[in-house]
Amino acid sequence: MKKILLTGDRPSGKLHLGHYVGSLQNRVKMQADYDSYIMIADVQALTDNFENPDIVQQSIYELAYDYLAIGIDPSIATIYIQSQIPEVAELTIYLMNLVTLSRLERNPTVKAELAQKGMTESIPVGFLCYPISQAADITAFGAEVIPVGEDQQPMIEQTNEIVRRFNRIYNTNILKECQAHIGINGRLPGIDGKNKASKSLGNAIFLSDEPAVVKEKVMSMFTDPNHLKVSDKGKVEGNVVFTYLDIFHQDKEEIADLKDGYRQGGVGDVSLKQMLCKDLDGLLAPIRERRAALSRAHIREILIDGTTRAQKKAQEMMQAVRNAMGINYFG
Ligand code: ATP
Ligand code: MG
Repeated sequence: MKKILLTGDRPSGKLHLGHYVGSLQNRVKMQADYDSYIMIADVQALTDNFENPDIVQQSIYELAYDYLAIGIDPSIATIYIQSQIPEVAELTIYLMNLVTLSRLERNPTVKAELAQKGMTESIPVGFLCYPISQAADITAFGAEVIPVGEDQQPMIEQTNEIVRRFNRIYNTNILKECQAHIGINGRLPGIDGKNKASKSLGNAIFLSDEPAVVKEKVMSMFTDPNHLKVSDKGKVEGNVVFTYLDIFHQDKEEIADLKDGYRQGGVGDVSLKQMLCKDLDGLLAPIRERRAALSRAHIREILIDGTTRAQKKAQEMMQAVRNAMGINYFG
């Protein structure tokens, strides 16, 4: 029996290079070695987009296109829509009893996101509770392997706390602890130099961007603001073009030489940016090609099929959960 892998994304926009580096690359690599579940987390996206359900609805298809275009294989990985599995919402309710308000408020990812979204004064309960819903997403499938970006590490820790508490209280071992698998390149910064490329910050290169858009974004990238002439000495640290080249350029020695040259003066930003454009085009061109061959009708079928399979799996777990809790009143 293969171990279960589960991960997902919020349908709050299209996927970008940060997702690729943080999580997508690992998913594609790992999909055949595990029983893989890829969740389109629309319930979670609604916690801060509840006034704009149309964005969430549109983004569901954008995500599914992105998944298939980057090489997720729906014949081995189950792609499903979170809201269509009420069993997960049911489990969330039971797990809510095992978490205190102060523990949620201490979650570092939640704290950072509340600040970023300006939700410091009045916090929607649904948003604050999303780590519990994430624990239900993971445990409802018995998932043990979670490929995510490093901002998700606190969620995995909180999930494992909930698992231990549930198993102790109900004297069972049905819920499984899980482990984050974080992309080796960590967090991808935005093209503006902010520490995270993000859908909602408008500082990301999307996997579906056309070559001209990629070029425009790369040319606008944050470098060293004091490096005005080619002959000037430049700073490599905090220079987003070098951060991206470190990740996306294959020849690491060439980058080391360019960094030396940049520090001493004599290497221009434009030539570095042109090099990065070429690297990104090499990565994105096959993704674009696969995307062009997909149809909405085909994607719809994949989503229906995946959601049906995922629901069966969650139903099995919920039977075991209700039994463990002694609330399976009608057998
Ligand atoms: P939002 O702004 O709506 O929260 P997001 O861009 O943060 O969107 P999510 O759907 O929240 O994207 O994240 C999906 C996955 O991608 C998570 O595992 C997250 O850790 C990872 N991820 C997102 N942005 C980055 C990034 N810049 N670098 C590395 N990993 C990332
Ligand atoms: Mg996020």
